[in-house]
Amino acid sequence: MKHYEVVIVGGGVNGCGLLRDLALNGVETLLLDKGDYSAQTSQGSSKMLHGGIRYLENLDFGLVQEALEEKNLWLRLTPHLCFEREFYLPLYTYSKYRPFMLKAGLLLYDFLSHFQNRPHAMLSKAELMAKIPSLDEVNLLGGGKYYDGVVDDAKLSLECLYDGLIEPCASAKSYCEVTRTRKTASGYEVTSRCLRTGQEETVAAKLLVFTTGPFTDLLLSKLGVPWTPQLIPSKGIHLWLKAGAIEAKGSVVLTTKDNRVVFVIPQRNSILVGTTETPVDQEIFDIRATRDEVNYLLGVLREYFPGAPLDERAIISTYAAVRPLVREEGHTEGLGKVSRFHKIYRPDQSSYVLIGGKYTTFRRMVQELAQEIVPRLGHRYRPNLTLNPLRQRSLMPTFGEKPVLTKELVKEIIRTEYVTTFDDLVRRRLSLLEEPGDLQDILGLPVAEIRSLFKTP
Ligand SMILES: Cc1cc2nc3c(=O)[nH]c(=O)nc-3n(C[C@H](O)[C@H](O)[C@H](O)COP(=O)(O)OP(=O)(O)OC[C@H]3O[C@@H](n4cnc5c(N)ncnc54)[C@H](O)[C@@H]3O)c2cc1C
Repeated sequence: MKHYEVVIVGGGVNGCGLLRDLALNGVETLLLDKGDYSAQTSQGSSKMLHGGIRYLENLDFGLVQEALEEKNLWLRLTPHLCFEREFYLPLYTYSKYRPFMLKAGLLLYDFLSHFQNRPHAMLSKAELMAKIPSLDEVNLLGGGKYYDGVVDDAKLSLECLYDGLIEPCASAKSYCEVTRTRKTASGYEVTSRCLRTGQEETVAAKLLVFTTGPFTDLLLSKLGVPWTPQLIPSKGIHLWLKAGAIEAKGSVVLTTKDNRVVFVIPQRNSILVGTTETPVDQEIFDIRATRDEVNYLLGVLREYFPGAPLDERAIISTYAAVRPLVREEGHTEGLGKVSRFHKIYRPDQSSYVLIGGKYTTFRRMVQELAQEIVPRLGHRYRPNLTLNPLRQRSLMPTFGEKPVLTKELVKEIIRTEYVTTFDDLVRRRLSLLEEPGDLQDILGLPVAEIRSLFKTP
């Protein structure tokens, strides 16, 4: 049986980020994921690296400040995966906020970024309409402009994984579902089943860490780890729209009738729209958007962009994910008000669970855990190592200049970027927005030719 210092279950952004931090600090670590890395919540976000302007309402200043610091860090470290965009917040005569309130909020947002954000501005109605020509003009007062980051969420997690795996003490396996754990005198035995071959393997770990996001409550009860459910799962869906569907020269922040926020974010030659917020009690692995949820978002868009051609034909694809929101004592308000703070639990001497938080702050969350784990295992923890640039870039960057896709390049991506299936390649390594089944060719290469590169086990 192989022995590791740490086994991490769950290869979303938190698992990949933790693997990197532990590996940089010399900890022998194995990461296991049931599917491809970053294929669940960490590719289903609104793809924003942001302080979360709406959390100012909850007076979560610490969270906003930390997130803004992280956003500005990743903008510097990974310009091929993240970039800054302007966000426009329209104000109508019936809006909840008056212009002076918006101005105060935007000023506070810039202040909490230590003025590292590009500065905000207030806009007249004419100035706003010049930027968002599709916007409804009736009762429009004007608006505000501020800056946040847009990220390829799946790829940033993947590049953290690649960076960690450069260290000889780190290893990872995808399509390996953890099915059993057994507490031993020296830690845990962890059994996983390869979903492609059906083979089982058991390894020993001194410490077992769960970064299983919204899957945590169900999984831990099955595995027999001492655990009381902590999550309020909340589903959110997004639409990728064709570029011409809405005329907007920047992102727009819309407030819905039920007092939620919907973002409209032009990027990758298309427009991302999201999100929704609904409780879930169904199977959440590979969760999909429903027709009602899609119609809800289209309805919000039609209100704000009355002249825009917004029907099913404008949609390129949809996706859904479940927020791992942590339950708070005495919380009675809607899901949108549940705090985005994270929590670290220690079910027993040899296990940890990290849940909640936001994508934007993953580096800080995993650091909090790593600085406890690393000294426990007899290593010295060096907190600054994760401030260094990631060493292995994706061969197909998301933003900026892209190389021509050739069969040789595809083979190289499959070989060096831990690709197992065709979906892994098109969705996460090439970051294509179309449903894989709808693709006839991929950036000029016939799909059949690319599929032939994948071996069936
Ligand atoms: C709709 C929505 C919008 C969001 N928008 C933003 C945003 O714009 N900005 C932001 O900062 N944050 C955002 N978030 C939050 C952010 O996406 C999450 O906080 C983050 O992705 C959680 O990552 P994770 O690694 O904890 O979970 P996940 O990414 O879900 O990773 C958990 C992993 O565990 C694996 N797993 C489960 N069971 C097993 C098992 N038995 N064996 C092995 N592996 C297993 C899964 O396959 C999965 O890969 C959003 C979230 C949602 C849902």
